[in-house]
Amino acid sequence: MTEQLAYLNGEFMPLGRAKISVLDRGFLFGDGVYEVIPAYGGRLFRLDQHLERLDHSLRAIRLDPPLTHSQWRTVLQELVQEGADQSVYLQITRGAAPKRDHAFPSRTRPTVVAWATPLDTGPPRPARVLTHEDIRWQWCHIKAITLLANVLLRQEALEKDCHEVILIRDGKVTEGAASNVFAVIDGIVVTPAKGRHLLPGITRDFVLELARAENLPVEERDLRAGELAQAGEIWLTSSTRELVPVIELDGNPVGDGRPGPLWHRLYHRFQDYKRAFRGER
Ligand code: PMP
Repeated sequence: MTEQLAYLNGEFMPLGRAKISVLDRGFLFGDGVYEVIPAYGGRLFRLDQHLERLDHSLRAIRLDPPLTHSQWRTVLQELVQEGADQSVYLQITRGAAPKRDHAFPSRTRPTVVAWATPLDTGPPRPARVLTHEDIRWQWCHIKAITLLANVLLRQEALEKDCHEVILIRDGKVTEGAASNVFAVIDGIVVTPAKGRHLLPGITRDFVLELARAENLPVEERDLRAGELAQAGEIWLTSSTRELVPVIELDGNPVGDGRPGPLWHRLYHRFQDYKRAFRGER
């Protein structure tokens, strides 16, 4: 097997050779942002939307974009293997400064790194999920690399034999620790509206498009924890896990404890779309 290729600050190299300084502010402070972009059949999916979200994240942390969209497109396409289903991880930090100081350094070059990993695009394993108070900061719309709360929450879920945590702030669902959340309430597909307390998921938007194309009633609005507990179906969305049905919430079955009919419908539409996108039509 050929060694995985990485991009680091303008150069391509084997991933094992990509090294950064211990003074990098990503390492010291989590001072950076990232993206995860899926590729189906070697084609990057919703790349423009991911790059636009990256621009928003960069602007929010006051970093200038190090590459234009067309430069990104060239770099990322180089990392993705022809015909493969992969996801590309990319990260930009405020770079390495000579001194460890919280304040922005006056002159540093950002650190830019990206590489591709295989993407499992088989049918998802239905998920058991916990709810938990949203213990993260207030700017969750930024895709920041500072993920300690998400790490601790995911680990807690795994140790309780669950797959994900759904976060609750002021009695309302925000999102999963690494996903967005949908619920089917009285036949209506409900997902929390975008705002500072959740990441504007690219897969979330795509699933909303699919639902609207299927003429399903859709609402982007507050979703109370009590409504979630009564939902007929719950789904999670993310770029690497696509559309996952939740079958158990806090130890109780969701609906009849099996993936629901609307999940089945949208899951199949999602797969049809991917096949066409790959060029398999
Ligand atoms: N929310 C959080 C906190 C995430 O980390 C992610 C991505 N893993 C998502 C939502 C889903 O976003 P996307 O569909 O763009 O992957």
